[in-house]
Amino acid sequence: MTTTPETMRVASGFATDLPELAVPWQAEEAPDARVVVLNEALATELGIDPQELHGSTGAQLLTGNLLPPGSTPVAQAYAGHQFGGYSPRLGDGRALLIGELTDRDGTLRDLHLKGSGRTPFSRGGDGRAAVGPMLREHVVSEAMHALGIPTTRSLGVVATGRAVRRETDLPGAVLARVASSHLRVGSFQYAASTGDVDLLRRLTDHAIARHHPAAASAEHPALALLEAVARAQADLVARWMLVGFVHGVMNTDNMTISGETIDYGPCAFLEAYEPSTVYSSIDTGGRYAYGNQPVVAEWNLARFAESLLPLISDDQDTAVALATEVLGTFRSQHGTSYARGLLTKIGLTSPTDDGAAVELAEQLLALLRESHVDWTSGFRALGAAVRGDAEPFRGLFLDLPAADAWRMRWRQHGPDAALMDRTNPLYVPRNHLVEEALQAATAGDLGPVLQLVSVLQRPFDERPGLERYAAPAPQDFGQYTTYCGT
Ligand code: AMP
Ligand code: MG
Repeated sequence: MTTTPETMRVASGFATDLPELAVPWQAEEAPDARVVVLNEALATELGIDPQELHGSTGAQLLTGNLLPPGSTPVAQAYAGHQFGGYSPRLGDGRALLIGELTDRDGTLRDLHLKGSGRTPFSRGGDGRAAVGPMLREHVVSEAMHALGIPTTRSLGVVATGRAVRRETDLPGAVLARVASSHLRVGSFQYAASTGDVDLLRRLTDHAIARHHPAAASAEHPALALLEAVARAQADLVARWMLVGFVHGVMNTDNMTISGETIDYGPCAFLEAYEPSTVYSSIDTGGRYAYGNQPVVAEWNLARFAESLLPLISDDQDTAVALATEVLGTFRSQHGTSYARGLLTKIGLTSPTDDGAAVELAEQLLALLRESHVDWTSGFRALGAAVRGDAEPFRGLFLDLPAADAWRMRWRQHGPDAALMDRTNPLYVPRNHLVEEALQAATAGDLGPVLQLVSVLQRPFDERPGLERYAAPAPQDFGQYTTYCGT
């Protein structure tokens, strides 16, 4: 009999604390499970010997066909507003929480399997995932991590050996996802909708203990949790904006309490700077457009606040007043994070209330927009301009006199080129590169995915021979569209 490594022992804190939100369940059998990619560095961080995850034992573990010691796998219940419409019962329709690992720093981290088969929350879905989209999450989430952006991680992708029926038959896969937890705004919406205040309180206590422990000793712990989540999300979304990340499906079930980016379905990276950019095929109204992300985050937080009201005060008017006050801080918090980041991107360390510096940054945005400048290349070329090579930057603009005039004003502020180079990535998961790598992987060649992951691990370090990874999409790549429900 195969034995599972003791180093992978998990706790079942979520399942034990919140049985109303946890349906014990088993993964579907994977007929021929094989590890496709493994994140050895993350395994090590989790205190797991990466060797344990290679080979057939690893493949069985990462598909849920073999359980680590201590595991009670569960499908988690949650609700959610999807594109503004409320779904009272979503939940893990194709995923299982295996349990909580304790990492090398002593922090609990969820081990969660996506694509592990049908559950009581599957509705019409097949419970499965295909290799392409799971590798996409692996590539993009690891790139986000390397960019310093809070995110769920990928421990690896395992092919199940089973075909998944989509438009065509695709090879099936499971993604082993590691997160500081899988609590979402939708988890609170679900708990609140049951009317069981004790459940809501236990969920809140659980979230506070795992993510925002300082809130436990606040006068109003639930309000302090709201404050902490609002702060984390204000900063997270600012970071997304600064690297040109478009999440694509910011439903309330896809917004974490931890402040980690979750759910890499229809996400994409901005090319030409244009706030109204949308990539997702189903986002026809542009609700989740690049420039709308802060507003949506604020809207989602209002849904979170509503869920917490019964815990904030026994008097609902008082609760609403307190929650509204906290929500009112989101804009300025996000604005400050974004302004600070934008100033850093242009090499300035000026305070965010330096009106002249902020105005300068905003003028650059207007110029970038007018000339459809590639977001990533534009800032990187600006860094080169400090070192005397302004031509790559100048070449990006239609209105050259305006760009030159802006550059002269900016130079007078004394931008720091080294700061710019460690702030503005050269390599991001450009849409055409991701697609090209996934197509090769689906056809059986993993080389391009592995190469892309290795390039994206060091996004700021220019390396000779990698020019194509820094270049915008070729003209013939055309308009990019991403798809959900994959
Ligand atoms: P997502 O768009 O990935 O955030 O998923 C929204 C909801 O649909 C979640 O409840 C998922 O569990 C569920 N879901 C997505 N894909 C599938 C699938 N293939 N089978 C069953 N449920 C799914
Ligand atoms: Mg989701």
